[in-house]
Amino acid sequence: MLIHKMGALIGSTPIFKFTHHDHPLPKNSCIYAKLEHLNPGGSVKDRLAKYLITEGLRSGRITEQTTIIEPTAGNTGIALALVALEHKLKTIFVVPEKFSLEKQQIMKALGAKVINTPSQEGIKGAIAKAKELAQSMEHSYLPLQFENPANPKAYTHSLGPEIFNELGAQITSFVAGVGSGGTFAGVAQYLKEQIPHIRLVGVEPEGSILNGGAEHPHEIEGIGVEFIPPFFEGLSIDGFETISDAEGFACTRELAKKHGLLVGSSSGAAFVAALREAQRLPENSHILTIFPDKADRYLSKGIYNT
Ligand code: PMP
Repeated sequence: MLIHKMGALIGSTPIFKFTHHDHPLPKNSCIYAKLEHLNPGGSVKDRLAKYLITEGLRSGRITEQTTIIEPTAGNTGIALALVALEHKLKTIFVVPEKFSLEKQQIMKALGAKVINTPSQEGIKGAIAKAKELAQSMEHSYLPLQFENPANPKAYTHSLGPEIFNELGAQITSFVAGVGSGGTFAGVAQYLKEQIPHIRLVGVEPEGSILNGGAEHPHEIEGIGVEFIPPFFEGLSIDGFETISDAEGFACTRELAKKHGLLVGSSSGAAFVAALREAQRLPENSHILTIFPDKADRYLSKGIYNT
């Protein structure tokens, strides 16, 4: 395959099938995982960046002079920086300082400027700082993934159809992590239209508020919310699975050891939730989940320390 832009490698990721031979699943039930860590920027967010920048250029919202500014836990920053490179656009990312150093270094390696906000202010602090920066700069574009309807739309247009084209109407449940909620809402909306009886289950770490729990810090990175994503409006969600850091990390290590799947802790959490969903359902159920990013950006955080 000959390419001249890394963006050409975004999407068309493989799907991994887990069966009862390796995991505690009811007979003939299986879990499918879309391996989004194999995108060139290492995460599902490559799809969002490609959509936002392509649409921005098409509509004239982004021009050659534009600086893209975004609050991000890291993966959106890496993805935007990667796609921005192709168009020679400048990028500035506002990242709460608790997020992994590797992600911040990768963003910088791709030419981005990184500004840290205090960890205790959470993602809300990063959003406020990014808005302030955008207001003070001419030719800035602030996609604001946490409130921009283009976020779920990016996945309704790419990830949802890719999954349905591969697996068709056999999917019983869609189980996926919720950060901004874009991946979950976008794919859920598309799949629900194709398969009306599909169950929709969101995944959060302990310390996130979707199941009514108290907000507190957690180690699983990339998922967990401080407010209900606006994209969930009108979506009939069947429930949320709340996963502890210990369960999420143990499963992340198991995925590496058993299958060579070098994925981040939000993938481990998604898999724990998918296993629980499978146990709730009758034999011959097919659960689909997403593995959002790869492991090597969390080595300094001890992802593989037992
Ligand atoms: N997992 C990881 C590692 C992430 O970085 C993100 C994005 N924050 C997600 C899952 C959740 O994706 P979304 O923002 O689309 O809900």
